[in-house]
Amino acid sequence: MRGAMIHAPGDVRFETLDDPKILKPTDAIIRTAVTCVCGSDLWPYRGAEPIGDPHPMGHEYVGFVEEVGAEVTAIRPGQFVVGSFATSDNTCPNCLNGFPSNCLHREFMSTCQAEYVRIPNAQGTLVATDGVPDEKFWPGLLAVSDVLGTGWWAAEAAEVRPGSTAVVVGDGAVGLCAVIAAKEMGAERIIAMSRHSSRQKLARAFGATDIVTERGEEGVALVEEMTGGIGADSVLECVGTAEAMRQALHSARPGGSVGFVGVPHDVAVDGQELFFSHVGLRGGPAPVRRYLPDLIDRVLSGRIDPGKVFDLTLPLEQVAEGYQAMDERRAVKALLKP
Ligand SMILES: [Zn+2]
Repeated sequence: MRGAMIHAPGDVRFETLDDPKILKPTDAIIRTAVTCVCGSDLWPYRGAEPIGDPHPMGHEYVGFVEEVGAEVTAIRPGQFVVGSFATSDNTCPNCLNGFPSNCLHREFMSTCQAEYVRIPNAQGTLVATDGVPDEKFWPGLLAVSDVLGTGWWAAEAAEVRPGSTAVVVGDGAVGLCAVIAAKEMGAERIIAMSRHSSRQKLARAFGATDIVTERGEEGVALVEEMTGGIGADSVLECVGTAEAMRQALHSARPGGSVGFVGVPHDVAVDGQELFFSHVGLRGGPAPVRRYLPDLIDRVLSGRIDPGKVFDLTLPLEQVAEGYQAMDERRAVKALLKP
């Protein structure tokens, strides 16, 4: 089969790779329907994370089950399935407590920008749809498997409640999906912090009521002004930089909450400041598997369309162009079709 390999910063190649095989009785092999490039794939692409030896890339997928291991009984070949970037058995204490992305048997996906993918913990991870969904839903379901699930977790962790005010820091695909989540959870006012007009437009289409283009303390001051001088009930941090986290913590009101889902890079939180702020803080890899049945329903019923975050569609063999377009901010998120 063929798939993406990263060799060095800025150097992603589409190559012939070994076909994935069932390695454990809990595995499944899927044929990729659509996959994509994630904002977090840009960290190694930009040299902000070490690459080491050339390795495959990608952790977002929806596809058709080709083959299952002996212990996989709930999923059958031919089914269309949605999964998560973090695999889980769905039976261990952490899974039962609602945190499948911290499953005791967790394996992170990392080979999905390819024609075929091995899914560990297939029985616990994969959710089959009722029949094969119309192709127009595939981008939305692909978004569910990572960016929407992650935005959903940002909203849950930030304790978005009906009638509340939510601020979303970050206008990448996760931030835009976090706007969808805040809206679905009933936030009355959703302030999206974004500098890019095309992204602002999408944020508004997803439910943002206000846009703040200023960053840093200027942005914080504006949020404060818009919230009666106290800050927002919920802040959804969807970037992962020190500046974004500072902006998020300073935008929350005393007693408010910050949900942080951007993978932190050089982020440090000041204990004294956090102590005196009365702000709640929670983050981590999103428990996407817990949300899958609900989010799949919301997409297939047409209630939400997170697939709109894909503003570039390419054949899988042009995966390198997908990285480049996202790196140069010519695209929010690139969809790849085998
Ligand atoms: Zn588990």
